[in-house]
Amino acid sequence: MLTACTKTGQTLCLGNEYKKETLLLIREKEEFICPVCGEEVVLKIGDQRIFHFAHKQGAACFESYDGETQRHMEGKLQLYHWLIGQNIPAILEFYDREIEQRPDIMFQYQGKKYALEFQCSFLPEQVFSKRTKTYLQNGYIPLWIISNHHLQVKKRNIAALSNFHYLFLRPSETGKLYIPAYCPEKHCFHFLASIVPFSIKNAFTYHDANPLKQIKLQQLLNPSNPFKKVAFTNWEKELNRFKINWTQTPGARSNSFLNELYNRNMNLFLLPPEIGLPVPHSLYIYTAPIVWQAYLMLDVLLNKKPGDLLTVNEVSFHMNKRIKRKEIMVRSLPQLNNVSFMEPVLDYFYILERLGILGKFNETTFQLQQRIKIPKSNHEKEMASFEFHQKIKG
Ligand SMILES: [Zn+2]
Repeated sequence: MLTACTKTGQTLCLGNEYKKETLLLIREKEEFICPVCGEEVVLKIGDQRIFHFAHKQGAACFESYDGETQRHMEGKLQLYHWLIGQNIPAILEFYDREIEQRPDIMFQYQGKKYALEFQCSFLPEQVFSKRTKTYLQNGYIPLWIISNHHLQVKKRNIAALSNFHYLFLRPSETGKLYIPAYCPEKHCFHFLASIVPFSIKNAFTYHDANPLKQIKLQQLLNPSNPFKKVAFTNWEKELNRFKINWTQTPGARSNSFLNELYNRNMNLFLLPPEIGLPVPHSLYIYTAPIVWQAYLMLDVLLNKKPGDLLTVNEVSFHMNKRIKRKEIMVRSLPQLNNVSFMEPVLDYFYILERLGILGKFNETTFQLQQRIKIPKSNHEKEMASFEFHQKIKG
């Protein structure tokens, strides 16, 4: 904790770079209390850690910062100084008594109030969502920044992302989705944008790093990363690797999706090339794209003849049925508004339209133009793949 009150009601913020001698003098004269619980706190001015306040042993403060790591304190301080350096009114550890929440930094920018949280430790999804909701309901724009040590960028353009990471997904002012991260050791922001998952854990993404000194708040809120499309050959390569790994896991035998394919005389490796395509909003869905796209094929597309119509309602009905059975799962994205699983579905239908499988009949209705052919052998699969590649080249 870096901010405390004195008994006379003044605030002492250690973000204001006090010298050790000054703090020693203040400490002799003053007593400090926690702004949250009102209990006494101790000013620690040792040489090992950043100067900070700590509750006395046994204190039961509901917003306890006592387990706070050096990394968290340093990051918070650096971000605070970075904002102050841009003349942005900011308060370190601002305690909002009404909502009983204390963002790491509260700041005002372009007439809006922001709650910045630099998150170093793991936070359960419910706690994260509840805090975010409270901020949103009380006029704050939440700005969650994940500590960079949590990010695992595997290859240049692939990252392993868990549900925890996706909680940090936020929209830029222009609606681009990205995950902001910060590294206090290197004084550097990291941005993950253009995130397109190909499995539950792994996603293609565009990763960019910007030293703190080189960017302004405006760029943190609107990263300049261009939207990058996934190169299709890389996508296919990773998808194939994912299929092989998946079928070799011990749980594969009892997997309801693989079993359903098996019961219909299909298999994962003979799915048509139109199933498992990269789709812009597919991160709204937790389940791998190949799975939900295959379910759409089984539930909606295979039963139709060319010329038949399919409505958005019908598609939504089938998706909902799979979601109720937990065969398709959607992601919790607390910082985004109006997240609908239909968005990636419609993105996908748009691609099928471009491939000549579907046509648009009217605003809420599609018409099947051409059946998706299910390959019966490796040879047929190769032929289908070849044709597909010719199509997407065009
Ligand atoms: Zn307290």
